[in-house]
Amino acid sequence: MKNVLAGAVVLIVLGTLSCARGQTSPQPAAGDAKAFLDNVNQTMLKLGVEQNQAGWVQQTYITDDTDAVAARANQRYIDAVARFVKDATRFDKLDLPADQRRQLNVLKTSLVMVTPSDPRESEELTTIMARLESAYGKGKWCTNKADPDTCLNIDDITKLMANDRNPQRLREAWEGWHTISPPMKKDYARFVELSNKGAREIGFADTGAMWRSKYDMPPDEFTKELDRLWNQVRPLYLKLHAYVRMRLRDKYGDVVPANGPIPAYLLGNIWAQEWGNIYPLVAVPNADPGYSLTDILKRRKVGPLDMVRTGEHFYTSLGFDPLPKTFWERSLFTRPRDREVVCHASAWDLDFEGDVRIKMCIEQTAEDFTTIHHELGHNFYQRAYKDQPVIFRDSANDGFHEAIGDTIALSVTPEYLVKIGLLDKAPDASRDLGLLMRDALDKIAFLPFGLLIDQWRWKVFAGEVTPEQYNKVWWDLRLKYQGIAPPSPRGEEWFDPGAKYHVPDNTPYTRYFLARILQFQFHRALAKIAECTAPLNRCSAYESKEAGKRLNAMLSMGLSRPWPDALEALTGTRQMDATAIIDYFAPLSAWLDEQLKGKPVGW
Ligand SMILES: [Zn+2]
Repeated sequence: MKNVLAGAVVLIVLGTLSCARGQTSPQPAAGDAKAFLDNVNQTMLKLGVEQNQAGWVQQTYITDDTDAVAARANQRYIDAVARFVKDATRFDKLDLPADQRRQLNVLKTSLVMVTPSDPRESEELTTIMARLESAYGKGKWCTNKADPDTCLNIDDITKLMANDRNPQRLREAWEGWHTISPPMKKDYARFVELSNKGAREIGFADTGAMWRSKYDMPPDEFTKELDRLWNQVRPLYLKLHAYVRMRLRDKYGDVVPANGPIPAYLLGNIWAQEWGNIYPLVAVPNADPGYSLTDILKRRKVGPLDMVRTGEHFYTSLGFDPLPKTFWERSLFTRPRDREVVCHASAWDLDFEGDVRIKMCIEQTAEDFTTIHHELGHNFYQRAYKDQPVIFRDSANDGFHEAIGDTIALSVTPEYLVKIGLLDKAPDASRDLGLLMRDALDKIAFLPFGLLIDQWRWKVFAGEVTPEQYNKVWWDLRLKYQGIAPPSPRGEEWFDPGAKYHVPDNTPYTRYFLARILQFQFHRALAKIAECTAPLNRCSAYESKEAGKRLNAMLSMGLSRPWPDALEALTGTRQMDATAIIDYFAPLSAWLDEQLKGKPVGW
């Protein structure tokens, strides 16, 4: 995860535009666009730095005061971008140099939500959004309404779904959590109307079309592109689904159908979006990797700082410059004893010019070791594009930033651990099935979920799906893509999409789908450049200067070029390609074929 950057604003509210209404501004000249963009870049830099500084202090020292300071800095930044976006439409019809046109387009599509210019409607929309977020944030399910001690929030629900194996309790918790969202339905429908109105005012067909316009192709073509990618990986998903269903049927009996959809509450996650938690139920026999990195880190007393230095060393082995002195002085690596902090790992670029940091409460675990490599990926990306205009200091599309960190994490292979002296000998390839199954449960199982959230929202924004069909279409999509079903029929008295954070919070979701696809494509490209001849899951780009050079060529473009250009700089191709996933999981896929002989696949 990275922190909010300029151009990647999560929520934009056009609430302060009334001053310009009623006046006709003179037709701008082409030269005005340059002056306008210079001002945008300077202002976004200044307010962005202030926002980052306030945010950093808040997250590393949580008090009511730092909360207030951070909220003010956020609002100032958001208001400024909102004003600029509206202003930018003045230049819509002018002939401009390509670079300026792109800056204007990037600015306009950086919005996630636009409030209508009518002040009453604008205020109504802002109020609705705050209410939706708070309804989710305060969401609780209480087994006994009279006793607050029996109430579970989303963290409790998450733990329960991950660890409990009693189907009755899992079902109750699943149904319980989904009681938080029906009160959101009316607000959500009104939010759709009003945000669409705002999107139309700046020239988009609806809010969904505005989201799809970020991808350097016509919105409808982008939809088709996602379908194409999904169809590349769908056969592998079907196998994983069939195998997991079979093993869950062994465990839970007839409640899991032999050839139908899997009940949504049995997959270890309240949304059935990642299934890694049920690994013990579906584990590959005799495929334990034979070593535990967590044990090794502890035994060898590799502390948090050593772990970060090891991560940095991966990047310098590719030819990247070492991290600046300030990174080591200013990052937060361990949980402080004397104050509250946000421990969720994140990567920051405070001044957009190299004051990069990570914020983590590092434990000596394999998971955190991988997360360090992931977070540093953001930092090296941020530093690579620091010479671009401020508007372009972001990833090539919103899938790229998350993908880079994960790409590097894929290079943390047993052979890499041997090379850096943490492991004496890499386990035999036959042991890979365990690791691959674990990864597949999270990364392959996620793909249909990552896709369908926005499939549903785009239809809703476009008016193809009305509030009378919200829940029906939601479950149609979950059946179609994920092959899962609710424990009992879910009529329109429910609003099940609202039980997923990103819907009431209005965060676009396609980026997570793209990141999962791209990381394997990047990994395959790096492996090829590094001349790796091992199976793809055993390849590491470690120490390949050539791979580093090509990676840097992509990273340093930032958002300045259409994403196919950036993709081409690393991979040599202009199309996203999910077949790298098929290559990576080939050994698991072959093993699944064996297990599924004569068994039902699909639903
Ligand atoms: Zn990340």
